[in-house]
Amino acid sequence: EAKDIHQILDEHPIVNEQQLQHWQWISSYYMCSLGDVYRAALPSAFLLESETIIYKNEAFTEETLLADEEFLIFEALQHHSQLTIHQVSDILGKKTVLPIINGLIEKSAIYIKEEIYETYKPKLVKYVRLHSNYTTDEGLHTLLDELSRAKKQREAILTYFQLAAAKKPIKAKELEQKSGTSSAVLKALVDKDIFEFYQIQTDRINYQGETNQIKELNAFQQEAFTQLKSSFETQQVSLLHGVTGSGKTEIYVKLIKEVIAEGKQVLFLLPEIALTTQIITRLQNYFGNFVSVFHSKYSMNERVEVWNNVLENKPKAQILLGARSAVFLPFSNLGLIVVDEEHETSYKQFEPSPRYNARDAAVVLGHLHQAKVLLGSATPSIESYFNAQQNKYGFVELTRRFGNIQLPKIELIDLKEKHRKKEMKGHFSDRLLQMITEALDEKEQVILFQNRRGYSPVVECTTCGVSPHCPNCDVSLTYHKLRRELKCHYCHYQRAMPSSCGACGSTTLDTKGFGTEQIELELKELFPNHAIGRMDLDTTRGKYGYQKIIGAFEAQEIDILVGTQMLSKGLDFDNVSLVGIMSADAMLNFPDFRAHERAFQLMVQVSGRAGRTKKQGNVAIQTYNPYHQILQQVSTNNYIEMYQEQLQDRWQFQYPPYYRLIKITLKHKDYTRVENGINWLAKALQNVFHDNVLGPSAPAVARIRNQYIKNLVIKIPPKQSLGKTKEQLQKIKNTFEAVKDFRPIRFIIDVDAY
Ligand code: ADP
Ligand code: ZN
Ligand code: ZN
Repeated sequence: EAKDIHQILDEHPIVNEQQLQHWQWISSYYMCSLGDVYRAALPSAFLLESETIIYKNEAFTEETLLADEEFLIFEALQHHSQLTIHQVSDILGKKTVLPIINGLIEKSAIYIKEEIYETYKPKLVKYVRLHSNYTTDEGLHTLLDELSRAKKQREAILTYFQLAAAKKPIKAKELEQKSGTSSAVLKALVDKDIFEFYQIQTDRINYQGETNQIKELNAFQQEAFTQLKSSFETQQVSLLHGVTGSGKTEIYVKLIKEVIAEGKQVLFLLPEIALTTQIITRLQNYFGNFVSVFHSKYSMNERVEVWNNVLENKPKAQILLGARSAVFLPFSNLGLIVVDEEHETSYKQFEPSPRYNARDAAVVLGHLHQAKVLLGSATPSIESYFNAQQNKYGFVELTRRFGNIQLPKIELIDLKEKHRKKEMKGHFSDRLLQMITEALDEKEQVILFQNRRGYSPVVECTTCGVSPHCPNCDVSLTYHKLRRELKCHYCHYQRAMPSSCGACGSTTLDTKGFGTEQIELELKELFPNHAIGRMDLDTTRGKYGYQKIIGAFEAQEIDILVGTQMLSKGLDFDNVSLVGIMSADAMLNFPDFRAHERAFQLMVQVSGRAGRTKKQGNVAIQTYNPYHQILQQVSTNNYIEMYQEQLQDRWQFQYPPYYRLIKITLKHKDYTRVENGINWLAKALQNVFHDNVLGPSAPAVARIRNQYIKNLVIKIPPKQSLGKTKEQLQKIKNTFEAVKDFRPIRFIIDVDAY
């Protein structure tokens, strides 16, 4: 029986046709449920449902008493302040989780609430105006006389008249501040019917700064821009390969300007918002209030506001900057998508599902909207470069830095030789120290890169050789000397650094390997008169953590900045003349088919921070393998050679861009169960895909948060249908999940896995 309409939730749909199509594509391409995509796409305010939410009891400290699964939930609550029952089942990989949750409640480790998701609340600002009794001069005179003793109230009224002269609405807060009174004073005046309050809805996010003219392109940029425009006449997608500092951003800006002049929307994707504030500022500088930022750290209300601005096609959201989840916004009139630093792996979401690559999702979005897509990078991904070579994408190059500054001079320092000649101080070769000293003498700044945080990744007993491991993961604990702690970088377990070996009691503990903290401490001894800064996960917590450090370095309050790969993300400092890479070797030996490509990208990007605007910079790379082909290619900035060599390997060993990869991961806390599951699965897959199945294998860290992990990879040859492969895989998955013993195992599918 049809019932009456109780309430209309939205006057207009909050999603549009293109979004639904796009989400459908993501769900089918990445083999995940549509629900997963919706959950990732919609700000939670739109999910008007009642759910049971669990919270951590902050007073609970007996973590060690928790059983494995209880600990997993408790642990997850450290990172997400709240969890839904649905999320808990995701974490544990099973449906019935209430008994475990009840156990946690009994132990007072968590508490629980039934919650209806918050709905969007517009932000209201309080304004003040004079009560209608007092609009005549006469009334006012009497009023001021009456108040001759109430000094503060008199002051508030006099200030009110000063402000009113500007003929603009007056905010209550402003009146308080300018008159030096308080909200109590205003309230008293309202009670006397002299003032009245009223509210106006405003936007939470507004750009207040100045705007500038866009820059005139130089001849090379102009040439590239012209080529780009003509390539867009025939191609939907183009790749801009421009060396670091060539001024790619200025080209994006010129293009954006044309697109918004046509009244169309622009989506500008960045790998990580927090690290790319410089670009945001640059774009705001040119386009002011046409720029909106979609930030996962924004509150839900702020995100809904951005969503609505995009949905309503408002000018202030015409240029939308965001990290990967911005591809889900309700664009209706998209003209251009820019994917900056398109090679960045942070465009790929690993966890949770949907495991999508925002760059690839952006290309599809472009097709749906008939919008142009511009991929930009100094070190394009092999896939994108390959697509350009195959004429699937347009291709434009910028081979010179802006202002005709030479690319930095790169020097490879042979550590074997330096050790042999005893020319090392800590982790610094004499040559690197000399270069640092020279730069500092010239009042220039230095960046040092070490892709590992903490003091050292391994602590080892010199007597028995045992090193402390994480109780929850198969990995050694990293030593953080400043906090005197051992930490697991996978599950965040931590404990105090012991003074003796847990196995034999010996007090001679040694450290192996080094991280940013050790470099920082060594620098403080080597350069006691200079300011040393460090940028890694440990120093950049909090909403503005990065900005503080980047700001201090920009203001030259820091002379030497040590950091992890955060330093490689498009930062633009004009006084950095030297970049040092403390150790290139770990990056090169990583067991992954993309390791060499990534090592090249990382080193070229970090090097690209040197000598950007004033004069040629220097780069020093310390290594035990100076003749490694990748290091040779980095030092000669030979992208093409790197690309061709990698491409040959990829062809020979059947990897992307020739073959596609689907990775399947099984996870469970019981080792034998995972082992049995993966063996069953390997056989089933081999029956269908034969030699194109790799594995089973365990990842480098084979147990994380007490879950054992096993992988299988399906390689899909160029001529094989992706759709058919997925169908076959889905069938096998269904059969697998019908086996009772396997049902509790978490089954993860990652299409185009990294
Ligand atoms: P990329 O993004 O290619 O690494 P940027 O766009 O950051 O390079 O440009 C490098 C530097 O050169 C920046 O400081 C930028 O302001 C400056 N620059 C680039 N193009 C121009 C131009 N046409 N006029 C003035 N300055 C420019
Ligand atoms: Zn020992
Ligand atoms: Zn751990």
